[in-house]
Amino acid sequence: MPALQESNAQKRKPEEVMEKPPLRSSTASIPISPYETSSSKAVTSSKSSSGPQQNAVVFSPELLRIYYDRLFPYEAMYDWLSYGVEKDFFNRREWSFTIQPTPEDEIYIRYQSFKDLEEFKSAVIKRQPNKIDIGAVFTHQPKDHNNLSKDVFHTEERELVFDIDLTDYDGVRTCCSGANICNKCWKYMNMAVKVMDEGLKTDFGFNNLVWFYSGRRGVHCWVCDESARTLSNDARSAVATYFELPLENEEKSLDLNTSLHPMLARSFGVLEPMFLDHLVGEEGMGLLSNQEQWVKLLKTLPEEARKAGIAAELDKEWTKRDVSPADKWKMLKSRIEKETKKEGAKKQRKFKGDESERLEMWPIETVFRHTYPRLDINVSKMQNHLLKSPFCVHPKTGRVCIPIDVSKIDSFDPFNVPTLPQIVSELESYAKENGESKNVPDWQKTSLKGSMQFFLKTFLNPMKNEQRKRRMEEKAKEEAFTGDF
Ligand SMILES: [Zn+2]
Repeated sequence: MPALQESNAQKRKPEEVMEKPPLRSSTASIPISPYETSSSKAVTSSKSSSGPQQNAVVFSPELLRIYYDRLFPYEAMYDWLSYGVEKDFFNRREWSFTIQPTPEDEIYIRYQSFKDLEEFKSAVIKRQPNKIDIGAVFTHQPKDHNNLSKDVFHTEERELVFDIDLTDYDGVRTCCSGANICNKCWKYMNMAVKVMDEGLKTDFGFNNLVWFYSGRRGVHCWVCDESARTLSNDARSAVATYFELPLENEEKSLDLNTSLHPMLARSFGVLEPMFLDHLVGEEGMGLLSNQEQWVKLLKTLPEEARKAGIAAELDKEWTKRDVSPADKWKMLKSRIEKETKKEGAKKQRKFKGDESERLEMWPIETVFRHTYPRLDINVSKMQNHLLKSPFCVHPKTGRVCIPIDVSKIDSFDPFNVPTLPQIVSELESYAKENGESKNVPDWQKTSLKGSMQFFLKTFLNPMKNEQRKRRMEEKAKEEAFTGDF
């Protein structure tokens, strides 16, 4: 289950299902300049020079109302989550809403379900959720779950999802901690997305997958192929575990085999250049940028190597002359290679057997320790785990959970993601310049345009075409079959 929003507001247990709609009226008037509202529930931004202005309102009920009235992509979400299958499929999907009927109260409502697009849209507009979560498709409509026994009411399918969050990188990032992020540590997300995206496509053959910015400090992946949606919980665990490395214990060796698993060998090829570009230098995490830092890294060499003086020799050399962080890494690697390479066996080798292997694998282990994806694996393991809906607005940052184009991930900047006040203001500017054009969808009048077009062109439309093609093929097969008799 997802965590509740961090808030001082009184929280109720997630399991609690509120049956009655919230008290807040859905007909409140909309102020002309909502981002200047003095609403008691408005959230203001507090940090980062690259983020919104200090104390600017980033989230308020008034802004959210405009977003849900005019910008949230209901049709696209309905199209996506219907997958072109039978009529009641959408109706059997669990939704959950986090609502805030008063500033002090936050309520989490599970087991919502909607029979069609209109019912979904009007529920969101009526309840104005601060957060929407998406759950599994059940055997029956989730809103009837209280009247059904557990043998009858259970999950049937669900997208395979992955959740990667920068808070899980606190052991390696030196710039920020907790909920804070900056452009330096965002690079960890680029690394994770590249490895996971490639692995899911190449090793598992998944096609229909899409990545989203989580709105604050992470990314979510939705794998939507039918073969992924119908995976059992055990199979989900197996896929998630396939990508897992035991990185949480910094003292413990990763025990990598010298004949590296092909997935890890490929990942190393992706990650080592990023390690050099973003982590070793001063402009990144500075792992090899000054003596204090490189001594810390050299201390992680296997004990035998340190005893043999490798660390001391390199430290002496790097102190004596100016070597760039990337060159330090090269020197370190070639020094290790010299000690461990097979031809060296003829000469006197300092390291034998296990010791040699440990040393040989140290550069790979080091790169993985600092760059390899750190998954919140529990999110992926269970069909009934909820995950925040794409296109939600994060209440703390005001940023929209937009899709991420993996082919352009290196230029994705979380601080450039459209915010609620920004897109509402863009709607107003558009109206001033062009009038209230009803022919142009509202999202096209704002900076959500690029994200929506990307989502439709590269994910939703190709997936719909695939579904259509498959249905036609099945129909043709059926006709041929009945024709034979
Ligand atoms: Zn940072």
